[in-house]
Amino acid sequence: MIRQAISCDICGTEKKQTNHWFVAYDQGEELRVSGWNSRNRLRPGSKHLCGQACVHKLVATSWPGP
Ligand SMILES: [Zn+2]
Repeated sequence: MIRQAISCDICGTEKKQTNHWFVAYDQGEELRVSGWNSRNRLRPGSKHLCGQACVHKLVATSWPGP
């Protein structure tokens, strides 16, 4: 089994044993954020986020402002 290094798409932190990571992906025109699981993290174009702080940063940068 090849172990792939995973790092946060926002801050670049490398994923280690911690498991409070999130996966974000586009579904239609919506940005979906879900918990870390093997199904979602392999989606093409998905983003890996090390925690809620980075989820908020991603939403803030990809959400069109008023
Ligand atoms: Zn991060």
